[in-house]
Amino acid sequence: MAVMRASVDRIARRAAQLAGIGGSGTSVSRLGLTRDERRAHELVGSWLERLGAAVRHDEAGNVFGRIGGTGPAVLVGSHLDSVPTGGRYDGALGVVVAVEAIEALRSAKVRLRTPVEIVGWADEEGVRFGIGLYGSLAAFGRLPKGAAARADTDRVTIRDALRALGLRGDPTKARIPKGAVRAYIEPHIEQGPRLADRGIPLAVVSSIVGILHARVTVRGRQDHAGTTPMDQRADALAGASEMISAVESAARKRGAAVGTVGEVAVRPGAKNVIPGECVFSLDIRAPKDRTLDAVARDVERTIRAVSRRRGLRASIDVLNRVPVAPMDRTLRHALGRACHAIGVRAPELVSGAGHDAENPALAGIPTGMLFIRSTGGSHSQRESASARDAALAASALAHALTDLSASYWDRSRPSGPRPGRQLT
Ligand SMILES: [Zn+2]
Repeated sequence: MAVMRASVDRIARRAAQLAGIGGSGTSVSRLGLTRDERRAHELVGSWLERLGAAVRHDEAGNVFGRIGGTGPAVLVGSHLDSVPTGGRYDGALGVVVAVEAIEALRSAKVRLRTPVEIVGWADEEGVRFGIGLYGSLAAFGRLPKGAAARADTDRVTIRDALRALGLRGDPTKARIPKGAVRAYIEPHIEQGPRLADRGIPLAVVSSIVGILHARVTVRGRQDHAGTTPMDQRADALAGASEMISAVESAARKRGAAVGTVGEVAVRPGAKNVIPGECVFSLDIRAPKDRTLDAVARDVERTIRAVSRRRGLRASIDVLNRVPVAPMDRTLRHALGRACHAIGVRAPELVSGAGHDAENPALAGIPTGMLFIRSTGGSHSQRESASARDAALAASALAHALTDLSASYWDRSRPSGPRPGRQLT
């Protein structure tokens, strides 16, 4: 196989160029469906055009660059938006790596037998309109009903935002026809400490966790903090605090599950008033659907028991339940072999964060993900990743695309070393 080397310098330069759009210093605020996000998409489009790609912007605001003619393509990419005051690498580095893989293939004069399409997804973070993974949801026909009418806090709808970008305003038109995508591969920073802790630059993702998002409303009785005896209270916040502790213990009890209460609202919210109502959020994630269900059941049981004992009324609204998205076996093996080919023994990791890759996977398209070591956490300006690791990812991706183009699509069984052991 030809030597396919990615350029560390070009990756560093391009990552910095993207970080400059909506960014200052190491902090980036490039929200979905904004002018800045569009500029990032156009910049990536210009890199792709220089590689001879046919570039198009779809009706949801995603950018695509196709190389290698017509027919079903292998889709490779990530997202180009960020959270407010986020980091430089979440999403953006994956797109830079995807483009760099094509650069590496071109410089090694490798001809792929399968077209490759690079994608930059729009509004993955869902900050403005509350729809996470928006661009890929649209492309794989999975947007919630009436999504175009969702508004941000300035009452600008998705429809308005798309029109302001010169599009028609109907993101459902971005749906990719069935059979047009053979496979999807997403390079992305890990956003967690596991690779850095073990000193390994790359990992192959085995699955993306299932996620349950819910809102719990606890109603008690608002009353005077001075004159109401302790045994005659129905304190919504005191009850909620027991419930919130139960989220932590229910998740701890089951190995790989995590549970978080990130928002709490107390009403009426005055120091001399017993809280009459408390609303809190639930975010529960697990690598297996049955684990997720078990944690959710435990939490619900506690919410009911605490309510009964304290004379409170509680309701649970499930906002979203995304099943575990398993990554395709053949792609996992191909990515594992590709890492091996460039001298990296890449372990397999479960992704605890949601990713655009969920959408093709849940739409039945073979999907794979490659994690790049990152430090400093994520969704903050401390987030960091090295261009050297990203170059390894691009080289591995170039190998994987060659391998898949040569063997997988001919349906011959790929051979070679199996991917690394599973890290938790
Ligand atoms: Zn991301």
